[in-house]
This record gives sequence, C-alpha cells and structure tokens, in this order.
Amino acid sequence: METRITRSPRLAATILRDGGLVAFPTETVYGLGADARQARAVESIFAAKGRPADNPLIVHIAGRTQLAQVAATVPPSAEALLARFAPGPLTVIVPRHPDLPAVVTAGLDTVGVRIPNHPVARAMLTAFAGPVAAPSANRSGRPSPTTWPAVAEELGGRVDAILQGGASAIGLESTVLDCTGEPPVILREGAITREALLAVWPQLADAVSPPPAEPVRSPGQKYRHYAPTAKVILVDHPQEVPARVAPTAAYIGLTHRGFVVKPQRVRRCRDIADYAQSLFRFFRACEKLGVRHIYCQRVPETHMGRALMDRLRRAAGAEEGSQ
Ligand code: AMP
Ligand code: MG
Repeated sequence: METRITRSPRLAATILRDGGLVAFPTETVYGLGADARQARAVESIFAAKGRPADNPLIVHIAGRTQLAQVAATVPPSAEALLARFAPGPLTVIVPRHPDLPAVVTAGLDTVGVRIPNHPVARAMLTAFAGPVAAPSANRSGRPSPTTWPAVAEELGGRVDAILQGGASAIGLESTVLDCTGEPPVILREGAITREALLAVWPQLADAVSPPPAEPVRSPGQKYRHYAPTAKVILVDHPQEVPARVAPTAAYIGLTHRGFVVKPQRVRRCRDIADYAQSLFRFFRACEKLGVRHIYCQRVPETHMGRALMDRLRRAAGAEEGSQ
C-alpha cells in the first residue's frame, strides 16, 4: 500500500469515509484513525499496528455534542470533567453506545472518548463529522510517535495517509479516567494530572494498577509499552551511568552534571514538561545511533511527574505482568 503524506484535513476525512486508515497529529501523540462506525476499517487498525484484539481503542470526536453518537449515557463525573478539560488530553470511559461496533471496544460495554485539542485533528474531525477510533500510531509495544516522520517509520506502507502536523506538544498519551463507577478511577496517568482532576471532582479512587486478584480494568495497561530497542534503565543521578557502557549509552534527565564518563548522547531537559515532550523522540534518536543503554533520570511523582514516571517504568519493563 502506498502511504500518502498530506496536509489536508479534508482529504483525510474523505479517506476515513472510504474506510481508509489515516494517521493524524494530536497534542498528546500521533493517532492512527479509522471510521469508528465501520468494523472492517477498525479491524485494519489492529492489523496495521499488530495490536492485540483485547486492547480497546479510544474514540475521538470533534466536540461534546457528538458524545451521544458513541456513549449510551454520560455519567455526571464525565460530564463535569469534560466541561472543564475538553478539548484536551483527557479520555473518559463511559457506557458504550449499542451501535458502536464491538471491535472498537474489544467487546467491552464501555468506550473511551476523547476530544483532542489540536487544530489539525479538530479540522479533520469537524470535516469528517463522525467518531474516529484511534490508538497511538506506533507498532504495538513501541514508543508512541510524536512527529509525522516517526509515524512514517512505524507505519509507512501500512496506512493510507499520514496527515502532517508539528511535533506533539505534550508527548505522552492522554489521561484515561474510568467514569463508569463512582468514584472515577484513573487507569492511565497523563497531562491532565490527578491534582487537576481532584480540583474538579474531589473523589477519585486510587487504583492505577489493580491488585493481582482483580481483573485488569484497562487491558492496554497489562502490555509492555513504550519500549525502544535499547535497554532502558532508571537512575536518580548521572553518576549511576557506569563508565564502561558510557561510550554506547545515552542519558536523559533534568540533571546533567556528575557523569563518571559522559555518555555518547546526553539530553538535558528544562523541566518535566520538556522531559515528557521529548522522551519518545529521544528514544527514537537513540535507536538510530545504535545506542545500547538509555539511562533515564527519575523525577518526583507529583503532577506531570506521575505520567512521566509511569512511561519510564513501562519502557524499562519493570511493570509486573508486562509483555
Ligand atoms: P492508546 O490509544 O494506544 O494510547 O491506548 C488506549 C488506552 O486506553 C489503552 O491502555 C486501553 O486499554 C485504554 N482503553 C481504551 N478504551 C477503554 C475502555 N473501554 N476501558 C478501559 N480502558 C480502555
Ligand atoms: Mg498506544
């Protein structure tokens, strides 16, 4: 299949209408979209990504008025949180509309919905005027792409089009919040932080990782994720990068002084937002350089630091039950 690279949200909408696959920019990471109402098109997302069929997709819409197309009901917590944070990097899990094909939600009776805040994504969704099922535009298990050339590397020849945009401003996937029960539960940390959610909805359950006896509430969270080909190692300080591997190692973090031997590549981040925004791009750059070990500095687990630490742990493969 030849992949078209385009700047036209209208062309992207036409391809979606025809049952095609379109990768598109969002403020979190690039997404791989298909018309959520066409089961065949949605199936081809799973094929293009090599995504396990039990991992549900997030449905993207242009605005809250389209919620009724995908949700059976909108719980009060979802209503309040979307009123505050949409459009933006928040995905709410709500009861699924019966007309939505089962393949979108991997057979679950709930659906994840997000209204992205990116001018190109919004233009495409508005032109399309329907729900677009879209996971991140990477091959399953790999770091999410945050630029269109990264999408082309991951999925070139496997999708009909790539809609161009700049680098994703946030660089980490959306916060996923299960609003089907009360209190709501954060299933995945993201740029809409726990602190920000609590300010609007003071009751939130503390259950990002369910205890082993419980079924996994967010199937995607059980898979190893965000992993580059190099080994990812978490450290507290540059001193911990062993001198013997430094010549083929890379380092990313907030502190960049104190190496015993300076690694081949060092990325010093201004702050946690900069760290988050550049992490996946850094992983890809390291792959190209043939780096064997990537040392990532841990950050305090408050605000956006929670989402960043979640991705760092998963990239390092430290998550229990990871694959
Ligand atoms: P991705 O779009 O690839 O970043 O992945 C979407 C994430 O949201 C995955 O971790 C999914 O398991 C999760 N997700 C999507 N829909 C649901 C749902 N209905 N219930 C629980 N988790 C969901
Ligand atoms: Mg993903």
